[in-house]
Amino acid sequence: MFCIKCGKTAVANNFCKECFLGSAHLFDLKDFEMHKCHGCGNFKEVSVQGQIEREIKTKNKITSCSVKTKKVGNRLVATVTCSGFVSPLRNTVTEDKKINITIKKFMCKKCIEISGGYYEAVIQVRGDKKDKLMNKLHKMLPQNAVTTVVPLKEGYDVRLRKRGYASTAVSYLRGRFEVKQSYKLVGEKKGKKIYRNFYAIR
Ligand SMILES: [Zn+2]
Ligand SMILES: [Zn+2]
Repeated sequence: MFCIKCGKTAVANNFCKECFLGSAHLFDLKDFEMHKCHGCGNFKEVSVQGQIEREIKTKNKITSCSVKTKKVGNRLVATVTCSGFVSPLRNTVTEDKKINITIKKFMCKKCIEISGGYYEAVIQVRGDKKDKLMNKLHKMLPQNAVTTVVPLKEGYDVRLRKRGYASTAVSYLRGRFEVKQSYKLVGEKKGKKIYRNFYAIR
């Protein structure tokens, strides 16, 4: 069999290796969009590399892929280099493609909660030891746990995004400080009652 295009020995689909690879592609990849949170900078999609791998269309076997990106305005210009086998050929071929990834802004759930002032628990710091207590809380709580600290005449209200942060901190303070626990019904979501926990500590 000879190549129907150039007459050399045919290896695949009536084409020689060069002519076959000239028309066949290892993979297809088109421009796409990604979403970056303007609060924390995380992508909604896993990662640039991860998303590229998802967007790659191929019927061939890809054995390796590398990505180089360059930021240009609101886009990433990505050079994607993949190696693999274009069936029925058995030698490895390498192909690269240049695509544009448009970066759109969005706000993730976590950042909406923080900016919206959403909180599930309040630690009410009271009494003579209030500043000592605030210091302890500051050391104990993760940085993004607190949404707001409300200064009051009688102390501080520390608002916490998740009740878990409050209960963990309070469990360390119990015994050395006086803790009074209560809760308030603050609303309903999908038929479920939402409570806010309060811990008065002095
Ligand atoms: Zn040919
Ligand atoms: Zn975010």
